[in-house]
Amino acid sequence: MESIILANLIGGRLRAPESGAYLDVFEPATGKVYARCPDSDARDVEAAVAAAEHAAPAWAALPAGERATHLHRLAEAVEARLDGLAREESRDTGKPVKLARSVDIPRAVANLRFFAEAVTQWSSEAHADAHALNYTLRLPLGVAGCISPWNLPLYLFTWKIAPALAAGNTVVAKPSEITPFTAFRLSELAVECGFPPGVLNIVHGSGPKVGQAIVGHPKIKAVSFTGSTRTGASIAETAARQFKKVSLEMGGKNPAIVFADADLSDASLDTLVRSGFSNQGEICLCGSRLLIESAIYEDFKRRYLERVKALRMGDPADESSDLGALVSKPHFEKVMGCIARAREEGGKVLCGGDAVKVPGRCEGGWFAAPTVIEGLPQQCATNREEIFGPVVTLIPFDSEDEAVAIANGTDYGLAASLWTRDLARAHRVAARIEFGIVWVNCWMLRDLRTPFGGVKHSGMGREGGVEALRFFTEPRNICIAQREATT
Ligand code: NDP
Repeated sequence: MESIILANLIGGRLRAPESGAYLDVFEPATGKVYARCPDSDARDVEAAVAAAEHAAPAWAALPAGERATHLHRLAEAVEARLDGLAREESRDTGKPVKLARSVDIPRAVANLRFFAEAVTQWSSEAHADAHALNYTLRLPLGVAGCISPWNLPLYLFTWKIAPALAAGNTVVAKPSEITPFTAFRLSELAVECGFPPGVLNIVHGSGPKVGQAIVGHPKIKAVSFTGSTRTGASIAETAARQFKKVSLEMGGKNPAIVFADADLSDASLDTLVRSGFSNQGEICLCGSRLLIESAIYEDFKRRYLERVKALRMGDPADESSDLGALVSKPHFEKVMGCIARAREEGGKVLCGGDAVKVPGRCEGGWFAAPTVIEGLPQQCATNREEIFGPVVTLIPFDSEDEAVAIANGTDYGLAASLWTRDLARAHRVAARIEFGIVWVNCWMLRDLRTPFGGVKHSGMGREGGVEALRFFTEPRNICIAQREATT
């Protein structure tokens, strides 16, 4: 089969990379190359920044409502292609098509619409007293850099570009080279629906070449990054030397804490299973450490395992698959290595633990069985380091204090979920655990107005709602003296 050749979007045109070189794009479910993505470099980033700079004054000068209209048009174009984009996202990432159709692509549409609306409803501050009136302008920064990962490609890509554009910036964005396809489709849609040339530029390629060139470019005033903690640290170092604004959304080792008094209905159990294994566990918010109060441990474990074993792993293009393939061969090998390490650390694998061969079209794919492990010490690497795959550890606890100590016992602090009927306990524990997001009796229930992000090694800054609009603007305060009227 012929590979599909992707292109960069620079200055409103789809362009081949200056190098003429391309990277292979694999379909994780088959292990085969199906597309080729530009292996761009600093020259393409330079051209994209020049186009973005050229377009910036006119875009910033547009009334917010007109910028919103452009974003709404793009949202409509994505929505009109929802089914096709869902299939393409599934092929590119290995995620089940039903997940891409129900979560990834609808959320990309919602991101574009949300920030289009948000910017028209946004107001800045004014402070008045007897001496002066202060008002604060929130001015666009100019050119913003957006770098996104492979796990929720179009979802996270739009989560970054939408607020940047809505706030009046032009953008140079880099999707993950591992999953570039839907960002390429978005480029085509932007051209089709008349997005002003140069306002949105998309440069494909590797992190060290394209990502680094974006972060280090002096004309790029802010970088919004989602990805691993290791890359985030390197971005923060480069940006610091130029006093550049950075927002970092990074890894997690999230706890789900189940107290003995929790309402463990079938629906709750299903949510807990989803929180561990949705998208093959490749979501930064997944609860990969399941803390269970000892009094209910055995009963909970039995019911939980029944459900995990019932998950259907298979061809992601198959409507009945609950789990698909892991995103790449290196990532698959990393996850299998983590499971081997868990065994060496004394863990008992209760289900899964192996690679899975899916016969037929997918026999060369990178499938790992949903895996549940118990019996590991809290301080071991498995319980402290992010795996980012379908692996959940069960950890018993005896008291609220112990649960809090275990939950806080990693360098990460992105998201946690608490399961209890005791409202006072929910408030108390939510205040004591060190995480940016705490869900009570639910998981991944998102309201796009809320601050999103982590603490410790999980993040710096917040995205979402007004937080994102603030990040992508510079406040300028104007102070006007109040003088008494002279007669
Ligand atoms: P990476 O950090 O490897 O990559 C993220 C993005 O950064 C990619 O586009 C990558 O390009 C690029 N990149 C890599 N090196 C550099 C560099 N030196 N300078 C600039 N950009 C660079 O993360 P993954 O793609 O592996 O994503 C998985 C990680 O993302 C997990 O740790 C996960 O927890 C985290 N994540 C966090 C979320 C959050 O909201 N907190 C949400 C989703 C994921 P390339 O792919 O070409 O290497």
